[in-house]
Amino acid sequence: MIPIKSIEEIQKMRRAGEVSARVLAEVCEKVAPGVSTQDLDDYTKQAMDRYGAISSSYGFRSGKRVFPGYGCFSVNEEIVHGIPSKRKILKEGDIISIDLAMSVDGYCGDNTRTVLVGAVPEEVTRLVSVTQAALFAGIAAALPGNTIGHISSAIQKVADINHLGVVRELVGHGIGRAMHEDPQVPNYGIAGKGPVLKPGMTLAVEPMFTQGSPKIAVDADGWTVRTADHRMAAHWEHTILITENAPEVLTLPQK
Ligand code: MG
Repeated sequence: MIPIKSIEEIQKMRRAGEVSARVLAEVCEKVAPGVSTQDLDDYTKQAMDRYGAISSSYGFRSGKRVFPGYGCFSVNEEIVHGIPSKRKILKEGDIISIDLAMSVDGYCGDNTRTVLVGAVPEEVTRLVSVTQAALFAGIAAALPGNTIGHISSAIQKVADINHLGVVRELVGHGIGRAMHEDPQVPNYGIAGKGPVLKPGMTLAVEPMFTQGSPKIAVDADGWTVRTADHRMAAHWEHTILITENAPEVLTLPQK
């Protein structure tokens, strides 16, 4: 069952999305050479506290493992779920994906940006910008009457024409009271397949592209997902609301 949000729930989702976008924007501004991913996580906690937001990542359980960070900080070949660490210090030429999910007044927002640390090789910059473009291509396909497959296929096409890999094991998701709800939103697929999109559905759309093979490997920590071939990966995400018309991006940064 895919939940359809009521007007009241949509208002709460809007607030959660707005706060998620503000916190992410603030944390991204702290990215610089010499900053550790632990520094970024400490700042994430501070910012969440300031907005009255509760991290959806901190204490998240997968089997016996409990995620220790307020956000996920994945550097270079790491795709998602990077654990913050004092020993992981950013340097010029790195890229870092910052994935922040949080709840505000019982409803969740989830968003991710991949940020360049100083000057980055052109091929890596292209990976990052194409992945962002794929996010917006997927969002543009999120129209009522279309299916999840329209979103998936729009994202996959952007990867295919740019000769980038699409990670298959990790997908977008419905979002609401819980960070993860039905349905799954894969980053590959066929237009017309999957559940039909209806106004009031809220989804987290999140393409993860790789420079080389999309095959993944999971670190011994049980969380960090990286590319098996050690080439770079990028990840972008927004939380959106399906409407009668074009989707509303709930985590769009405000100025
Ligand atoms: Mg997500």
